[in-house]
Amino acid sequence: MQVLLSEELHRVKECPGDGCGWLFFDRSRNQSRRWCNGQDCGNRVRVRQHYQRHRISKKGEDNA
Ligand SMILES: [Zn+2]
Repeated sequence: MQVLLSEELHRVKECPGDGCGWLFFDRSRNQSRRWCNGQDCGNRVRVRQHYQRHRISKKGEDNA
């Protein structure tokens, strides 16, 4: 029972989405799930990371 409980808790994750913080239960076998619903939050952050990477590389070009 105790082992089962800790195993279950280990699968509870907090969505890293911007301003989301949702807790969800990762039922995937390898616990690869990251987002609360895998659609809205994942996409939004992916777009923003892409944008930031673009800006950083542009800045680097300017310095060089
Ligand atoms: Zn989320």
